[in-house]
Amino acid sequence: MKFEQERRQVVRYLRRMLAAGLTTGSGGNISLRIPGTAYFCMSPTGIGYDVMRAKDIVVMEDEGHTLAGKRSPSSEWRMHAAVYAARPEIGAVVHTHSAYATTFACLREEIPPVHYLIGFAGKKVPVAPYATYGSEELAALAAAALGSEYNAVLLATHGLLAVGTDIERAFTVAEEVELVARICWQARAIGTPVALPDDEMARVIEKFKNYGTAAAEISGSER
Ligand code: 13P
Ligand code: ZN
Repeated sequence: MKFEQERRQVVRYLRRMLAAGLTTGSGGNISLRIPGTAYFCMSPTGIGYDVMRAKDIVVMEDEGHTLAGKRSPSSEWRMHAAVYAARPEIGAVVHTHSAYATTFACLREEIPPVHYLIGFAGKKVPVAPYATYGSEELAALAAAALGSEYNAVLLATHGLLAVGTDIERAFTVAEEVELVARICWQARAIGTPVALPDDEMARVIEKFKNYGTAAAEISGSER
């Protein structure tokens, strides 16, 4: 099978996404760029993660042409392709419907820096305007809101898009954003959370550049 290791890795992270409670059913999707090529491994549309196999992962390029895999790619493949086109350093994209982040997305309210862990995503998590799931419009709006500054963006009335230099980092971004969204929600329930100032967030973001790189090495060598 072409790109077997990469496709297996995508399945592994899709299962982790479900197990971590970051999505339900076949919601959300994950892609992994194949370094040095125009291709990326894309989860298929509408298939439950418990029954999904590596051969179900589609290997495709940004115009939608398929190199390997018989399934139809995720309805959101354009959103993943838009991120790869705009951000050459990004190696993986994770889209979730995690409940607390999506609560903010439904309020169309950005997640403020009420905990330093938001630094995995940037100084805050902005919101991309609403567009129908799977549309070209959503792909453009999400990539524009992400810009070059953020590693996560809320999709209005939909969910979360997280990106990273590798799949472990993109997954971590999605997990930590969900945690901060939950903490923010909880803190507001009993009081008023205090947001960290801009200069402190700049320090945290700098420190996070190298944080967790050992985990990525382990996950890479296990493949
Ligand atoms: P797919 O099953 O097509 O990936 O769609 C899930 C989703 O989250 C759409 O936004
Ligand atoms: Zn979705």
